[in-house]
Amino acid sequence: MENPLTPEVLADPVALTRALVDIESVSLNEKAIADCVEEVLRGVPHLTTFRHGNTVMARTDLGRATRVVLAGHLDTVPLNDNFPSTMRGDLMYGCGTSDMKSGVAFALHLAVTLPDPRYDVTYFFYEAEEIESKYNGLTLVGQAHPQWLQADFAVLLEPTYGIVEAGCQGTMRAIVTTHGERAHAARSWHGVNAIHGAGGVLDRLRSYEARRVTIDGCDYREGLNAVRITGGVAGNVIPDRCEIEINYRYAPDRDPAAAEAHLREVFAGFDLEVTDAAAGAAPGLDAPPAQEFLAAVGAAPIGKLGWTDVARFAAMGIPALNFGPGDPNLAHHKDEHVELTKIRDGAATLHRWLASA
Ligand SMILES: [Zn+2]
Repeated sequence: MENPLTPEVLADPVALTRALVDIESVSLNEKAIADCVEEVLRGVPHLTTFRHGNTVMARTDLGRATRVVLAGHLDTVPLNDNFPSTMRGDLMYGCGTSDMKSGVAFALHLAVTLPDPRYDVTYFFYEAEEIESKYNGLTLVGQAHPQWLQADFAVLLEPTYGIVEAGCQGTMRAIVTTHGERAHAARSWHGVNAIHGAGGVLDRLRSYEARRVTIDGCDYREGLNAVRITGGVAGNVIPDRCEIEINYRYAPDRDPAAAEAHLREVFAGFDLEVTDAAAGAAPGLDAPPAQEFLAAVGAAPIGKLGWTDVARFAAMGIPALNFGPGDPNLAHHKDEHVELTKIRDGAATLHRWLASA
């Protein structure tokens, strides 16, 4: 295959977005796009390029005091009759336009066109963000070559519609189980109904008042919800067991241990088991490059409510925020698209931030 990422395409973030979208790269099928990106980066004299699996990174080594990471995932969710890209006026449609090849285009465009950024920059293009974390290129490189990721600050180019979404909320799943005693439904007074017992759990959820927390000027709104309920033995049996699955989204001032302690307090007296937990990430906006980035964007940051890979950076001790041109509400949708003006504006913002002396 001829590499579609020609110098003319690399010079224009819009054309580059389109070229990247038109290289199909559903998770676990990133080899072709990684090959194209690697070939481009290896041809840039001011960069040193590395590859691990289908994750490609390149770095400047200008001896600057500060190093920042610009990161984007190369994969997309499965195609949905939305490949290759199409144009309608000022909108580019197609799988990955918003999430997140327009963001990847920012990083690749800057990698090629900015030989002397004000900080040393690590450009990080990784595989398999959309699927289980054991495939995630950021996780894999973090384990195999943690030194590749050493930095003072990271920008994750996920869709945020051109504003800064800082930090991210943590997420926890738990099962609350109520217990009873089986009996024939005709003589139900001999048993204890575990499904009725679940009413006590639901009452606590219905009366629960979720917190709103402000950290570094960013609002985080928590949520505690039942997302599944299972129980019952047969149509004529009083059930002895009912399980309520709980999903808890918590602000980044709580770590998983504090989140679990809170759940145990809310459901005191019930049998609770945590089945899955992921830490959130504090907004980390006090780092000087973050402050300078906010000044370049010129708009107030908001808290990121969903979980993103900024939490993986935070776990490595690197403050990170989300910034990208796509509309996060369109990610993973069939009619996913991106506004060309958002691509041009966002690329100009990043250039302003990295190029200013
Ligand atoms: Zn994404």
